[in-house]
Amino acid sequence: MKYSNACGEEISRLAFGTMRLPLLPDGSIDQEQVNEMTDYAMEHGVNYFDTAYPYHDGRSETAIGKALSKYPRESYRLVTKFPGHQFMKKYDCEGIFNEQLAKCGVEYFDFYLLHNIYENSLPTYKNRDYGIIDYFVKQKELGRIRHLGFSTHARAENLEEILDFLGDRIEFCQIQLNYLDWTLQDAKRKVELLGSRGIPVMVMEPVRGGKLTDLGEENNRKLKARRPEESIASWAFRWLMNIPEIATVLSGMSSLDQMKDNIRTFSEGTPLDEEEWNMMLDIAETLKKGVPCTACRYCCAGCPKELDIPMLLAGYNDLKFASAMTVKMQMDGTPAEKWPDQCIGCGACAAVCPQQIDIPEVMKEFNGMLRTGPTWAELCRQREEAAEKMRAETP
Ligand code: SF4
Ligand code: SF4
Repeated sequence: MKYSNACGEEISRLAFGTMRLPLLPDGSIDQEQVNEMTDYAMEHGVNYFDTAYPYHDGRSETAIGKALSKYPRESYRLVTKFPGHQFMKKYDCEGIFNEQLAKCGVEYFDFYLLHNIYENSLPTYKNRDYGIIDYFVKQKELGRIRHLGFSTHARAENLEEILDFLGDRIEFCQIQLNYLDWTLQDAKRKVELLGSRGIPVMVMEPVRGGKLTDLGEENNRKLKARRPEESIASWAFRWLMNIPEIATVLSGMSSLDQMKDNIRTFSEGTPLDEEEWNMMLDIAETLKKGVPCTACRYCCAGCPKELDIPMLLAGYNDLKFASAMTVKMQMDGTPAEKWPDQCIGCGACAAVCPQQIDIPEVMKEFNGMLRTGPTWAELCRQREEAAEKMRAETP
């Protein structure tokens, strides 16, 4: 296993993300398999285990806590997050934090994140009445948290404001990063900004929830011809090895086979050479099935509804790859009068678009996609109810 040094700690370059744990047929977590995967991870040098309050409706923390309980506490780094990004009836920092410690069976967390500080959750995190950040800074002083950081799905242009607000209260940052999001979500800009401030980067979604493990026949063939022995997923991990700001890469592994493949990559794998690095960026272009907006903004001046058209088109493109919830969560930070349903179909934008995008049609389709399934607020409510139910069931 290869290691990095972040926040004064030696941490494995591969981290066990516990958002997509193996399940039994009845939908509950397969604890036996989680134990087996955790044992394999520990035996092969993985020492960073990432969970979060809402994962698996609150059951992920318990599962990984159980799996790690037989190991000396100082032999692994346990990581979880405070759900300030969710809409909640109240933000009970103390209650939730104590519950997390109890569920994991530990007295402290090595790394603790404020979960997804982005456009829409920033007011919650800033709210002095909730006192979220003050509370967790205090826990760090008390030794119940060793390192405090945050994760974010904020747009690149807003990350600077968030970093300015947090200042030296945070030590690390977790972002979505892979060769597709390098350009699609402007992750390159985020990495450069974090790097310029000396903030270590923890990576989430390195294979975009599995979407980068199968790139289509032609792309797969190209990669297999070059390195027949390596999996398609391993290319995504090796691509990340070229970015020096990265401290660790969280992979949400669901089986022992995935874990073995990833551990092999992070133990023996070498970074890509320049030609391979660029080849992956070219492949990313072939995966972008959305509209070819270049964000020139020619269309914006004539829009009678003053919509941020390139931002909406970026969301539309993203929805082709991301889980719908990620995009819905981001759209929650957008005022109602700026949503795609406000488009009146006048066509003034399409008339000046150098890429000849049928913008009114895309707005209609994007709106339909956003309205399908539960909203982010509904999902938060469901999660809160599930957490309450679990608390009631726990003896
Ligand atoms: S078609 Fe929609 S997005 Fe385009 S200018 Fe008219 S209102 Fe704005
Ligand atoms: S004019 Fe076309 S390419 Fe330029 S920002 Fe608008 S939609 Fe995108």
